[in-house]
Amino acid sequence: MHFWKKRMKILSLTEQSFRQRSYSTLPEDVKSLRSVVNPDISRIRNIGIMAHIDAGKTTTTERMLYYSGYIRTLGDVDDGDTVTDFMVQERERGITIQSAAVTFDWKDYRINLIDTPGHVDFTVEVERCLRVLDGAVAVFDASAGVEAQTLTVWRQADKHRIPRICFLNKMDKNGASFTNAVESIKQKLKTKPLLLQLPIGEAKTFRGLVDVLTKERIIWKSGLDDGKNFEQKPLLEADDPNLFHEVQDARNALIEQVADLDDEFAELVLGEYSENFDLLPADKLQAAVRRVTLARAAVPVLCGSALRNKGVQPLLDAVAAYLPAPSERPDGFPKWYNDDLCALAFKVLHDKRRGPLVFIRIYSGAMKPQSAVYNINKSCTERMSRLLLPFADQQVEIPSLMAGNIALTVGLKQSATGDTIVSSKASAEAAARRAGREAGSLLLAGVDVPEPVFFCTIEPPSAAKQQDLDNALNCLQREDPSLKVKLDPDTGQTVLCGMGELHIEIIHDRIKREYGIDTYLGPLQIAYRETILNAAQAADTLDKTVGDKRHCVSVELEQRPGRAGEQVAGAPVIKFAADVAELLLMALQGTVENGIANSCIQGPLLGFPVQDIEVTVQSLTVHPDTSHTMISACVSRCMQKALKKASIQILEPLMNLEITVSEDHLSAALADLAQRRGSIQEIQSRQDNRVVVAAIPLAETMGYSTVLRSLTSGSATFTLELASYQALNSHEQRVLLQRTRGLV
Ligand code: GDP
Ligand code: MG
Repeated sequence: MHFWKKRMKILSLTEQSFRQRSYSTLPEDVKSLRSVVNPDISRIRNIGIMAHIDAGKTTTTERMLYYSGYIRTLGDVDDGDTVTDFMVQERERGITIQSAAVTFDWKDYRINLIDTPGHVDFTVEVERCLRVLDGAVAVFDASAGVEAQTLTVWRQADKHRIPRICFLNKMDKNGASFTNAVESIKQKLKTKPLLLQLPIGEAKTFRGLVDVLTKERIIWKSGLDDGKNFEQKPLLEADDPNLFHEVQDARNALIEQVADLDDEFAELVLGEYSENFDLLPADKLQAAVRRVTLARAAVPVLCGSALRNKGVQPLLDAVAAYLPAPSERPDGFPKWYNDDLCALAFKVLHDKRRGPLVFIRIYSGAMKPQSAVYNINKSCTERMSRLLLPFADQQVEIPSLMAGNIALTVGLKQSATGDTIVSSKASAEAAARRAGREAGSLLLAGVDVPEPVFFCTIEPPSAAKQQDLDNALNCLQREDPSLKVKLDPDTGQTVLCGMGELHIEIIHDRIKREYGIDTYLGPLQIAYRETILNAAQAADTLDKTVGDKRHCVSVELEQRPGRAGEQVAGAPVIKFAADVAELLLMALQGTVENGIANSCIQGPLLGFPVQDIEVTVQSLTVHPDTSHTMISACVSRCMQKALKKASIQILEPLMNLEITVSEDHLSAALADLAQRRGSIQEIQSRQDNRVVVAAIPLAETMGYSTVLRSLTSGSATFTLELASYQALNSHEQRVLLQRTRGLV
């Protein structure tokens, strides 16, 4: 069935979409819906697009939706009317912050696309999306090659072992260079690019490409054409002798490269086709490229220009051809669930009318609306009222969804981003038994959320609004685990902790827009850390009789400075002296460690977390009746005693900064950096631009985007990323202490 007809059928099933699209008939053949909403698992592709900001993710996504028929007009990020950038702030800022999942069909494939955010303040979002992807398309600006953020996301994708293909976008742009971009992929990403296409023309003359596997050339019309139609035919020597030989060479090189990486293909090439690679069928080569891509031994490279409507259809073909189906991914533990439901909630959005909408990736079993599910993280049973497919700009109601798919659920009130959802508590317990693990431990791995670096107080316009604000913040936290909300124990104020200036600003914006509360933010403050400069020792005893039980514990411990900078936000390293009785420890180790960790939450100087310390428990004696709470409290108190004796050093967040700036504004940017305690590590050339790689204290980055914009007439861009924590010098520390104590 043609996909457009399929779509009409699905859409017409919901009353809502029925009204929106004004379809006049309900489908006769409701049965066929099952295969439409639950396609063959081998034809599902759960993919994400990852890129540096401005490389063209949003534009490429739009074109994909357009060519697959799910939207009828081309949106334009520059006019702010694209489907995936659906949040108002995103439109205004022109960046993609929230990642929306979008489903569409391309030929016989069901593609679930998760638009990963590009801003570095939101790398947690990126991680979270990578978790549910089976494959990814890395989009590059062909005039810039690999940029800082791509490198970050690329490494994250390595961590999650996600097969990738590369799309060199903006081939039409001045300064675009296929060769340079490929070289930069080789050098910076340390990967083997497989050139599956060659561009025809470059920059202004870019008009199409050659498929290296089939030696067909694909030419799009120039001008304002929507790019739906293109001419595809074999490239003949007579058409363009130079290009013909280039493609010939590229194909031979590709065959040799793939043969080196895949034994099955090597045998084929060395046997039948060793005399003449020209006779090697394209489908054999394609199958081998697929194996190599799935094994992550190499990465296919394609090119085009999303904005000029060139190269996107072959990119979609490549997604289907080279990226894995859910069933081709190495299995984690969901196998313990057999055919029972196991799913991950990876995104929560709040809808005014319907309440929280939870995006879910199903790893095993099936989901049905009007059913109860069990959330292992929250240990609670919840009821799902409706099950939807996020089709482009619509949500389509569906009767069931199978493993491998991505769904949108309505009705789950407790589930938050990162939670594992199964069919029932009994099912979770049965799976844990099969795995030989503790009940409740079979969680789909959550996302590591980095510690927030900025915080500020937030206040409602009146005390009466506090309740509404608390509610709004609860909702926002469920959506975004990188947002932390705390209560200041001294002042009773609500404190927002976030990943960056922009992050906090956006939360503030959303509270106003989505919840109608005008809040006041206190000044943005930096989340410093504390550590110790010298070793210190302390002993403590707690002796209390409660009822007829005597709780008595004595502890002696020593703290020393740990090795700083080894890990970001290093937790205390805990050791036990040899004579701390082994038996005692087996039962109490966790309790003691808890006490130590608790004492490190608030440092003695300014109340910031204590890190980079090593603690040795030298002795521990415990009366048999003593409760764990008492032991932990005693250890904590003893730690605080020792911390008071050690001199405290304040640590500040140090950021990696990468600025891309034109040659004529370079000196202005550098002069400004010098004033911000920035240390320049490297200055690279990239076409007409210079790329400055530097380290800069977070404190010096406040308002940096505005300053840099005015210094460089808006031509520069930059990225920031937490690198480590570094010690303030004694002068800086004194000034900070005076300022926080209100002395200056
Ligand atoms: P994102 O930040 O990665 O989502 O990038 P966008 O899709 O928002 O695009 C960023 C800017 O690059 C916009 O001004 C687009 O119009 C422009 N752009 C996107 N694709 C192309 C392309 O193929 N060629 C050129 N010249 N510009 C493009
Ligand atoms: Mg975008």
